[in-house]
Formats: sequence, C-alpha cells, structure tokens
Amino acid sequence: MVAECGTLDTERPEQRRPTPKLNGASPLLGDLYLAPKPAAFACVECSRPSPVHDWRKERVWRHLDCMEDRTYLHAKLPRVNCPEHGVRTIAVPWANTKSKFTHHFEAFILAMAKDMPVNAVAKIAREHDTMLWRIIRRNVYNARKTLDMRHVSSIGLDETAARRGHDYVTVFMDMKTRSVLYATDGLDQNTVAEFARDLQEHGGDPAAVTAAAMDMSPAFIAGVEAHLVNDQISFDRFHVAKAVGEAVDQVRREEQKVDSDLKRTRYLWLKNRANLSENQRDRPEVLLQKPLKTARAYAMRESLQGLWEQPQELTEPYLRRWYFWATHSRLKPLIDVARTIHRHWDGILRAVTSRLTTGPLEGLNSLIQAAKAKARGYRSKSNLNAMIYLLGGGLDLPALHTI
Ligand SMILES: [Zn+2]
Repeated sequence: MVAECGTLDTERPEQRRPTPKLNGASPLLGDLYLAPKPAAFACVECSRPSPVHDWRKERVWRHLDCMEDRTYLHAKLPRVNCPEHGVRTIAVPWANTKSKFTHHFEAFILAMAKDMPVNAVAKIAREHDTMLWRIIRRNVYNARKTLDMRHVSSIGLDETAARRGHDYVTVFMDMKTRSVLYATDGLDQNTVAEFARDLQEHGGDPAAVTAAAMDMSPAFIAGVEAHLVNDQISFDRFHVAKAVGEAVDQVRREEQKVDSDLKRTRYLWLKNRANLSENQRDRPEVLLQKPLKTARAYAMRESLQGLWEQPQELTEPYLRRWYFWATHSRLKPLIDVARTIHRHWDGILRAVTSRLTTGPLEGLNSLIQAAKAKARGYRSKSNLNAMIYLLGGGLDLPALHTI
C-alpha cells in the first residue's frame, strides 16, 4: 500500500485514503509507504515552518497488525533548516521521536500489559519482552513529566517486595484519587525525602500534605516527620491489628508446648470469629472454655478491633482501658505490643477519626505481586517501578481509540 502525505505535521497517515500510485515502492501486504511531498515542515524545536534541507534514509515503524501480518510504516523524513535551530529532522505525528513503534502499537502494548504479564504480551505481539519493557518505561516516564500534584494533601505509603528476600520498593499514593504518586527503591527515610522532592517537581507542596497513612515503621515515621507533615500521621489499622495478631500467635506458640490442643490452631486466633467457617467456629468455642493464656490474648485482640467502631469522643478512653488491660496481662508479647501502641498513640487515635488506611495500597500490591508471579519476575527494579506506575493509574498514557 502507498499513502501520499502532504504535511506530516498536521495530518495523520491513517486518515488518508491509500492511492493506487506505487511511487516505486513494493506493494507488500502489511507495509505502508508514506511519501511526504516536498514542502515546508515545522521545526521540531519551535514549530516554525522551515524549508527542507535534505532527506534522511528511510525509517520504519511497526504499526498495528493488518490481517494478522506485522505491519510497518515506511517513510523518508526530511531535515529542515530552521533559521534559529539549524538543520533538524522533523517530528512525526504517528510515533515518538526515538521509538521504532507507532503510538497505536504502543497504546496496544500498554493496554495489554495492564491486564496480562509482559512475557505473555511479548508472545502475542511477537516482540522480545525487553523491547516491550522499553515501551512501557518510556511511556510511563514521559507521562509522569506532566503529572500534576498541586492538589495532593492526603497520602499513603507502603512497601512492596521487589524480589525474594529483603529487597523492597516504597510506593506513595494520593489517598483522594487512589492513584500512585511515586515509587522508589528501598524503605528507609530517604524514600520520603525523594518523594518530597518529586512532589515539588510536580507542583505539589510537602507542607500541604496534612494526612499520611502508613505502618508503624520507624524509618517511615522519621521520614514523614522530617520531610512532610509532622503531626498528622494515621497509622493503618490493619498493620496495628497485624502486630497484635503476631503477639497472640507468640503466646499460642509458647503455650502449645504444654497444651497440645493448641497445635495447628494458628489460623483460628488470627481471624475474627465472625470470619470463621461454621466448622472452624466450634473449635475456638471449645478452646475458649479452657483457662488458656492464648484465649485471653485473643480476647484482647478482639477487643482492640472494637476501637475502630468507637465514636470520636470515646476512642481515647477506650484505648486507655485496653492499654491498661494488656499491660497488666502478664503476657509478655501483649505487653510489648501494647507499649508499641503507646509509642504510636496519637497516630492510632487519629486513624480512627481520619478513617485513612493503606488498604488501597495493599490492593495495588496484590495486583503487582500477582503480575510479577505470573511473569516470573520483572527482570529489574526499574521495570517493577514502571509496572507500579502503569497499574497504579493517574497517568495520561496513550490509549487505544483515543489517539
Ligand atoms: Zn526552530
């Protein structure tokens, strides 16, 4: 097929009707030859119409498949002589300057990569996955340049595992729009400093961040206090519940050495009774009849859950009573976790009122980890970060049927 182009900077190739003239090009199925007419073209820097200086050798871009054949656009591009910027190759409306693929092809890859592992997309697209990762990274980071963070005032942060072991990425989310703001390697307080810098680069103001939901990690707390809000942290209720659940399990593990009924009951004590199946529910009822330390610890765990149902004026007295009970329980793991809670007192109480949780981040985390498992890894952390941005939303990416 041969398409004739007039001015490359205003028209799109697919809007033109192919003409029967071949202009010497071989009419292979799946190859579209664009023949720009000699004219003035816009300078890539300043858009000023500039005369053609010379023509570069033919370039080829992969486009969406035509009848299941790989389809390519071919074009020789002119270099123009701009009075201000000198001799420059023109930009084309169908592709990024450095890409070997059209916007449509890239939008197709991005759409598939949101829903399936990149190695599966690579098979369908018949391209190597490293090439697709390059497309994803370039589009995501280009889109991030125009990200507007002026209205960010409430954030959440949490870590996600990059690889097996102790390799993590910290993710920051806008809790109002539920979209990812920033993802970076590591989980120390520097990650918060980097986020604060990125926020400013995108028009945001660290001082305008008046709420932050997070776990009780000392590094995150130090980072948020140093670089963002200093008294508006809400500690995520699920992380608090997890810490108490671990304390209950420590009590059980110790006690099962003397009471074998407690063996293989770990899951019973980590769930709320309402969430147990009918068969499972009978078991704790029996166990709760016994004067077990584990049963006392479990009762404390369930009682703390009640904090989140309290009206604002009752939250502090409620937590104070719970703290007294736990610290007088003579159960060391419960005393320890109660002290941890005491150190994070205000942030836990604030979370009851603000209702901020890192739940949306957990949701994104499971998407990321599921995609990672299916793809058997992401090859690199920069790919993982790009995938977090792709799945995390909020970016103005090229989409099918809109370009
Ligand atoms: Zn120019």
